Amino acid sequence: MDEYDVIIIGSGPAGLTAGIYAGRQGLKTLILEKQLAGGAGLMVPNMENYPGFELVSGKVLIDYTKKQALKYAKINEMEEVKKLEIISDHEIKVSSQKAEYKAKSVILCTGTTHRKLNAPGEKEFLGRGVFYCAVCDGPLFMGKRILIVGGGNTAIQGALYLDTIGSYTAVAHRRDELRAEKYLQEKLKEKDIAMFWDSVIDEIKGDMFVKSVVLLNKKTNEKNEYPIDGIFIAVGDIPSNGIAKDIRLETDKNGYIITDKSQKTSIQGIYSAGDVTGGVNQWVVACGEGAVAALSAYDDLMRIS
Ligand code: NAP
Repeated sequence: MDEYDVIIIGSGPAGLTAGIYAGRQGLKTLILEKQLAGGAGLMVPNMENYPGFELVSGKVLIDYTKKQALKYAKINEMEEVKKLEIISDHEIKVSSQKAEYKAKSVILCTGTTHRKLNAPGEKEFLGRGVFYCAVCDGPLFMGKRILIVGGGNTAIQGALYLDTIGSYTAVAHRRDELRAEKYLQEKLKEKDIAMFWDSVIDEIKGDMFVKSVVLLNKKTNEKNEYPIDGIFIAVGDIPSNGIAKDIRLETDKNGYIITDKSQKTSIQGIYSAGDVTGGVNQWVVACGEGAVAALSAYDDLMRIS
């Protein structure tokens, strides 16, 4: 069984930054990622609030960060952690579908997954017109009619991106006010993007592929059917906390992992950082938390050695 000082689970901005910091402290560090390095970071179209970059895409920032992290840590992509076992303080067995490892510390940076609407047709047309990531799947819809559902940053950034690549874009939001940051709202106003306010999805319809959507206006109780080619659902996130729950790590009522200011969790030797800990879900915050988690792990290991 390979042994590491630190095993980081997840390789979004938090996990990669934790890898850089842990490795630079001289800790033997492994990052395990169930998909490709970058996680949800890869899906961010454009960021204008990451310090040092006036405009940068998530993919570009991940590419830079991954390259930097590889100088200090081993990164195993497509390796999903299935189970953690606490053997004793700072002795944790980490099992993936490929191997078993022993770690003195574990940093959970498992992020979040897309919240589902549970609307009729959503499950049936998944991948056949229903999508959750505008950057990943948007290019399929150049010149086509797209509805984005949601009023947060992800929805509005997605709408702006789809408009840029030439889709006929509309947004449906359940209230009459957006949650997205003001600068995104201003950009939206400059574009020719239709808004359906106070509207929820009543049904997604089609044959092999999505053909239309029925919207219910919550104020008027009116239902209207609109022809569309695709629908992007961006109604927030739920924490990916499965392995954390299995070891009874403390979470809040919404399932986000509870940490202190040093990113320590309720179990000795386990730290957590990034979106899975809740809060404001900003790239720069995830990086900061990843750095703090790695430095906390280092401090604790120095104390026990
Ligand atoms: P979010 O901020 O939680 O917004 C979710 C949106 O979906 C809200 O407008 C919400 O409506 C709506 N919604 C939730 N459940 C719904 C349902 N069942 N039916 C219809 N609408 C529903 O989620 P997000 O936009 O994915 O952002 C997640 C986090 O990442 C946030 O903290 C955000 O700031 C951050 N983020 C930041 C950036 C950036 O830095 N630029 C980019 C993307 C995301 P209500 O408004 O009525 O609640």
